[in-house]
Amino acid sequence: MKNLNTFDVVIVGSGIAGLSAAIEAINANVSVCLVEKLPSPGGNSLISDGGIGVVNSDLQQSRSVKDSVELLKTDMLRAGGHINDPELVEIVASQSNEVYEWSKTLGVKYMDRVDIFGGHSVPRCLTPKNKSGRDIVDVLYQHAKKQGVTFYFKTMFDDVIFEDGIAKAIIVRQNYRPSHNSKNKQVTISINKSLIITSGGFGSDKDLIAKHSNLPWNIESTNLPTATGEVINSIEKIGGQLIHMEEIQLGPWTSVDEKGFGLGPLYGDYIALPKGILIDPKTAKRIVDETADRKIVSDAMLNIGRFALGLTDDKIIKDSEWDISKLLKKKIVRSFKTLDDLALHYGIRVTYLKESVQQYNELIKQKKPDPLGKDLTDKTTIDTPPFYGMRMSTRVHHTMGGLRINPASQVLDRNGHPLKNLYAAGEASGGIHGKSRLGSMAITECMVMGRIAGKTAAQ
Ligand SMILES: Cc1cc2nc3c(=O)[nH]c(=O)nc-3n(C[C@H](O)[C@H](O)[C@H](O)COP(=O)(O)OP(=O)(O)OC[C@H]3O[C@@H](n4cnc5c(N)ncnc54)[C@H](O)[C@@H]3O)c2cc1C
Repeated sequence: MKNLNTFDVVIVGSGIAGLSAAIEAINANVSVCLVEKLPSPGGNSLISDGGIGVVNSDLQQSRSVKDSVELLKTDMLRAGGHINDPELVEIVASQSNEVYEWSKTLGVKYMDRVDIFGGHSVPRCLTPKNKSGRDIVDVLYQHAKKQGVTFYFKTMFDDVIFEDGIAKAIIVRQNYRPSHNSKNKQVTISINKSLIITSGGFGSDKDLIAKHSNLPWNIESTNLPTATGEVINSIEKIGGQLIHMEEIQLGPWTSVDEKGFGLGPLYGDYIALPKGILIDPKTAKRIVDETADRKIVSDAMLNIGRFALGLTDDKIIKDSEWDISKLLKKKIVRSFKTLDDLALHYGIRVTYLKESVQQYNELIKQKKPDPLGKDLTDKTTIDTPPFYGMRMSTRVHHTMGGLRINPASQVLDRNGHPLKNLYAAGEASGGIHGKSRLGSMAITECMVMGRIAGKTAAQ
């Protein structure tokens, strides 16, 4: 087989984890190439909101939010059902501010706001200026290119040549097109030092999801269709250990009225769950503590077996300072002058709905504990028209499982020993989030562990 080229460090996957690794590796004066099956960089990172969870950021401090590494660790371990690796959690939490500052130094710009998602104890999510992962990907990609990283796009990783316990080369197909089952000739790229796997999660890999979970075959996904697990499968074959493959996160804030990730999460994730209520249209009863982590909310949604209605009012929308005009125009979110109109539209019994909303408002007014366990301290009543509703559903969003790594980002074998020159970071790795990843902690993880992988792999 023809050898295309030889590099000190070879990286597979050009999302935020891969780009972060590439930048750190090239900084160490080694030759670096990055292989990507798509025609351009970014993967799921590009279509993400780019929300990054940061402890003690300048934006948190300017709002006097009291936070600590310990508190973020506690939140991540609680959401993760304490099956996550505490050492890896500590690394991600303690370096969150460092990577946020690093991204700013490279040129990423953030909005002047701090949001809170389910399962976080305090607001700590920062959002790039255009509320898009593209803001981060573009900056990292341009920087990596300028520093001399070689990029091979439309280049599909097929396998790894692994001899004497060392990754010697990867086998790739160039001019790859996901829509065609291309039979292009395979070539190798030889590795002088290390191989880093940053090929992302498998949220669109129906076979792998079916193998590891009981989720319905037809469940939708927020991921790119190319988010598949062929790379981690190859690494497993040569002895890499997989961990938590059955932990597949559903995102409980998409709209049933659009496909994929869509626009709905702006209302669902940033407004309705943290500030509004989620009700079963059949009973008009709230179904869960809306601020709980994604797993708890998704399980409650699956339990009712139909869409859940995310309900807010004018006060909540204005207070959020988000512009939802696009969602209203596309009828993903609808507004109603009265609760009667809203009930009629969604087929909810008016009396049930009014009773439910009134009960919720009374809890807040009388400062009573919420029977569903939500902390109502800073919550507002739902009583100011217009009222807003979105038919919410849950979809595959994140795969917590993947290649098991140690704090140096080395891939471990089935006995827990590091494979000599093999590293992984980002969603291709597993063990950091356990049973449930908290919103905004994937981007943080990708930057922290990607940078570590890049630095150590180049040594
Ligand atoms: C719609 C959406 C919104 C999200 N929003 C947020 C958010 O706001 N905050 C947050 O923290 N998390 C968010 N997430 C999760 C987060 O975006 C991902 O976990 C993270 O971006 C993964 O980054 P990565 O670098 O590990 O992988 P990716 O960004 O997915 O990159 C992996 C790359 O590897 C490539 N690849 C895969 N297999 C091969 C192969 N065989 N050969 C060559 N290349 C290959 C892929 O094409 C892809 O480009 C969101 C996810 C989605 C889907």
